[in-house]
Amino acid sequence: MKGLSKRINKVAIIGKGTAGCIAASYFRKTLNAEIEWIYDSESPAQSVGEGSTIPLARGFFNELNMNYSALDYLGGSIKKGIRKIGYNGVGDYLHEFPLGELAIHFSSKMLQDYIPKVLDSKGVEIVDKKITSHDEVDADYIIDCTGYPKDMKGYNEAEFTSVNAAHIVQSPCRGPLFDYTFTVARPFGWIFAIPLADRTSCGYLYNKDINTLEEVTEDMKAFMKEYRFPYSDNINSFEFQSYHKKEVFTERATYNGNAAFFLEPLEATSVGTIDWINRTVVAMMQKDLSFKEANSFFTREIKQTEHMIMLHYLNGSKYNTPFWDFAKPRAEASAKEMVQSNLFRDIAALALKNFQEPDFPSMIDVGEYGQWPPYSYFQNFKGLAIAQKIDDLIREFETSS
Ligand SMILES: Cc1cc2nc3c(=O)[nH]c(=O)nc-3n(C[C@H](O)[C@H](O)[C@H](O)COP(=O)(O)OP(=O)(O)OC[C@H]3O[C@@H](n4cnc5c(N)ncnc54)[C@H](O)[C@@H]3O)c2cc1C
Repeated sequence: MKGLSKRINKVAIIGKGTAGCIAASYFRKTLNAEIEWIYDSESPAQSVGEGSTIPLARGFFNELNMNYSALDYLGGSIKKGIRKIGYNGVGDYLHEFPLGELAIHFSSKMLQDYIPKVLDSKGVEIVDKKITSHDEVDADYIIDCTGYPKDMKGYNEAEFTSVNAAHIVQSPCRGPLFDYTFTVARPFGWIFAIPLADRTSCGYLYNKDINTLEEVTEDMKAFMKEYRFPYSDNINSFEFQSYHKKEVFTERATYNGNAAFFLEPLEATSVGTIDWINRTVVAMMQKDLSFKEANSFFTREIKQTEHMIMLHYLNGSKYNTPFWDFAKPRAEASAKEMVQSNLFRDIAALALKNFQEPDFPSMIDVGEYGQWPPYSYFQNFKGLAIAQKIDDLIREFETSS
């Protein structure tokens, strides 16, 4: 069966969290259709997820006429890359965007206030209403951004992911303090620090089946003291699953944001995946892409993203702890699967060829594995000192096949 062949005159977007904001902005600009935006004020949106990659800022620039002054409205900062500390390898490196290209950090709460205001002023109808079934929605097509699924029926769990809980502490400051996302390997997992205008958002990702929240809380305090981030009692601790929906694209609706997937936030992949899903909806409308093809591309995209995230555990960290002992073999299994992809082997070959005398532009715009061009793999292979391991795994695979 082919995809969306009927004429779409009206699209309803359900959900006003970060995914709903990105979808409403994108579809208003991209489709020649009426947009209705529905949310339930009784059901609050997530207040985490504050680091982006390049498509978010570029999208808002194109769709909403946003420029750098919008960073004030978003309490945000510019992001030139992700600094990674404490992993075995170089020990401290920046996985950076190409020079001249930037992403942003943003306060998710401020984004969820600001984007509806802008879209309201551009004529988008925003309706406060709890939707209990898609049948209640009067629209030709629905983008369902209603957040975490109520149960995991119809979802696949991520295979390799090693963390399943988060402990977030907001550190007050007159910021932003730096222009990259900070990530630091720790004994029980890893910590991100996102620089915002009035706070640095620090989050500890760990495995609740290996370490307790008390241990993590103590180590978070130690981290914040070490890096001089003032501690506060603005704290949020919760457990999560990593998953993706088997059928994201259907005849009646496409699911996006947490309603479609979640993977641990290393490398800020959610907003890029949200953008990918939105673009695929338009491809389904314009290019006759079937639901089956779109769903299979999505499953592949999520798998590639998980593979890339797991590379960060492949060489371990400066800590020999039960968490890292648990994560490393999972990373090895993930990397073994990764090298079976022709696309990954081509991208890795280009990254490895550039190792001695890199030619940066030759590693951009020549394909991506997940959301990353060879330039990203080149930087991470170096930073994590995993080039030899990847090369060995590729040879092993090629000899055995
Ligand atoms: C610790 C952590 C750190 C993260 N960091 C990053 C990061 O740096 N970068 C990144 O890209 N991502 C990150 N993420 C992921 C990010 O948080 C999510 O991608 C983002 O919050 C998406 O949320 P959402 O819009 O899908 O859902 P939600 O924020 O849950 O919004 C759901 C919306 O649906 C509405 N709704 C729900 N039910 C109904 C109903 N029945 N009828 C009508 N409306 C309804 C609600 O009112 C709400 O508006 C992180 C996640 C975690 C856990």
